[in-house]
Amino acid sequence: MPYPVVHVLFFWFCISAVAVYAITKAISRRELSLKDTKKLLLLMFVGGLCTLFPDITAVYNLFVNGNLEHCSIGPIPTHSLLFSFIAIIFGMLVGYAAYREFDKALYMAIFAEAAFLTHLLLDDVAEGGCTYLYPLYNGHISIFSMMDTGFAEAGLFKYLIVSFVSVFCVFVVILMALFALNKFGFEFGYRAEK
Ligand SMILES: [Zn+2]
Repeated sequence: MPYPVVHVLFFWFCISAVAVYAITKAISRRELSLKDTKKLLLLMFVGGLCTLFPDITAVYNLFVNGNLEHCSIGPIPTHSLLFSFIAIIFGMLVGYAAYREFDKALYMAIFAEAAFLTHLLLDDVAEGGCTYLYPLYNGHISIFSMMDTGFAEAGLFKYLIVSFVSVFCVFVVILMALFALNKFGFEFGYRAEK
């Protein structure tokens, strides 16, 4: 498993790279107010914490059982879409507490979910799979090893489906983070060249 700091930095600087870029620009122009700074810190807190949620049981097991078992809470694997509801609920609660608006709570939940899913993707790269679909399927699935499917052994149709599905999963996670950031004031748009 990648170290916690890797998960947090990966989410902040890779998945949310566009926010880092926008903030750097705002700081250089001295446009960052105290209110903006608080909002930024809240997003960093929610994103940073939610990207660690799948390994939350490691803390419990370290103190109680003296090991670093981090993949399940009771019978439920923490590296699954089912367990990601914890991030959605947490994001929703924090978003509502901060803004008192249902819309903002929803966007914070999407941001939190993107952070959680980023953890699964990173573990997938490092360990070769996660129990994404528990309880529908209990085995490990690896999106990244799917990308390695050969054209010759899979056939054209399967090759195209696998290529599309694997890239689409990563795309969806990045798009969720971009969408949520956009709703929190990070603007992205196309500027036509003159
Ligand atoms: Zn993990």
